[in-house]
Amino acid sequence: MNILNYINGELIGGQEDEWLDNFNPATGEKYGRIPDSSKEDVELAWKAAHDAFPAWSALKQEERSRYLLRIAELIEVHQEKLALAESADNGKPLSLARRMDIPRASDNFRFYGTAALHMHSETYDMGEQGFNYVLNRPIGVAGLISPWNLPLYLFTWKVAPALAVGNTVVAKPSEVTPATAFILSQICIEAGLPPGVFNIVHGTGPKAGQAIVAHPKIPVISFTGGTSTGAAIAKIAAPMFKKLSLELGGKNPNIIFEDCDYDQMLKTTLASSFTNQGQICLCGSRILVQRGLYEKFLKDFTEGTRAMKVGDPLEADTRVGAIVSRAQYEKVLHYILLAKEEGGKIETGGKPVYEVNERCKNGWFLEPTIVTGLDEHCRVNQEEIFGPVVSIIPFDTEEDALRMANATQYGLSATLWTSNLKRAHRMAAKIESGIIWVNCWLVRDLRTPFGGMKNSGVGREGGFEALKFFTETRNICIQL
Ligand code: NDP
Repeated sequence: MNILNYINGELIGGQEDEWLDNFNPATGEKYGRIPDSSKEDVELAWKAAHDAFPAWSALKQEERSRYLLRIAELIEVHQEKLALAESADNGKPLSLARRMDIPRASDNFRFYGTAALHMHSETYDMGEQGFNYVLNRPIGVAGLISPWNLPLYLFTWKVAPALAVGNTVVAKPSEVTPATAFILSQICIEAGLPPGVFNIVHGTGPKAGQAIVAHPKIPVISFTGGTSTGAAIAKIAAPMFKKLSLELGGKNPNIIFEDCDYDQMLKTTLASSFTNQGQICLCGSRILVQRGLYEKFLKDFTEGTRAMKVGDPLEADTRVGAIVSRAQYEKVLHYILLAKEEGGKIETGGKPVYEVNERCKNGWFLEPTIVTGLDEHCRVNQEEIFGPVVSIIPFDTEEDALRMANATQYGLSATLWTSNLKRAHRMAAKIESGIIWVNCWLVRDLRTPFGGMKNSGVGREGGFEALKFFTETRNICIQL
């Protein structure tokens, strides 16, 4: 299958006619190719977006919203095709793509299509003196770059708010998982989205991605990906004074107190550790357990982990699918080796899985892995692994838990398990994370702002924050 760029309403190859292969992680086989797009392709996409901007930004909000809602509907119409593509591209269980990724992508278009109708700006009455108000206007061409772990969900999380408030877009999905973005471009054509409003350039980060970031006439960049890539992007974008949102890596603590609802905690912790093969930026990878519960938790959690089926993503009872790419698979194996070198004990897992089935005999499967015996300072507990590997560390007091939770460069998310309401509030106010779940995980109202602290990012996405991010603000003061 040839995946094509979507530029000025048309599906076209790259200007240089260079291609990159794409692989199905579950089979290890090539399933298609994408254009290895260059600066010239980004320039074409920018020109289309630039030319489309005056008419798109001048549309009534209701008309723009109608397009977004139509795209949401068509994502639902094509949901099975999208779910199959997402699973084949990324290696995740098809059941997960059906349940989470694809519905959430249509939710993103539906949410921003309607939220933009209710955006308001501030006005202050200064009495006799006059009044002061704020105008929010679209900025122009937005550059959007997204990662491979939740390909369609995170891509649409940026595209929908940028379009909703009147920007036009040049976007690049990850080269590793381009398939759902390609189907989205076909959906946009079916929805009748005017040419040039939304453009997708496929290719690598250093080539196509960097050309977007460095383009002098793309004044706003929204990026989700690794912390070191975010730093490289900031180095280019900051001296150009671009508006920048960076959603970056994490090393999220999952803090379990003895007084928690044990059964609920255990079930949710299995999910928060290994859903999507541990490749969700919000997965908890450092499990801090209060000492009185440690032995029981370790036994039950290990049993629960062993019972998870690592299998063909197409089989309904598969809980853990394939790792997204050979490079990521090798990276995770490297960290398992490092855990042993650092003195850790592998309680379960730690090995590749070869015996999935005939179809998947060359896929990149790993056992979900539990490490113990490492303190919070070692590399395995400091660096983002982004795979099905968790480390369990005991703690004694609330202060210990807090110190350990905050002992990394990251601050994306945290989960807290306790029945003590006062402690929940006390800890939640002190944990250095952009989002803190108390007795739950991955539950969120889309209206709230989302983003990390420390090296997990700057800027906030989600809710009205995202709509405001994609506007420029004028402060207007009128003297009467
Ligand atoms: P990367 O940082 O490697 O890549 C993210 C995107 O940036 C890809 O599209 C990539 O292109 C592109 N890119 C790479 N280098 C450059 C560059 N120099 N200039 C411009 N673009 C570039 O991240 P991964 O794809 O490996 O995703 C995993 C990471 O994403 C993890 O660290 C995870 O924590 C983080 N993440 C954060 C989230 C959050 O909300 N904070 C949510 C989800 C993931 P290509 O891949 O095509 O080369």
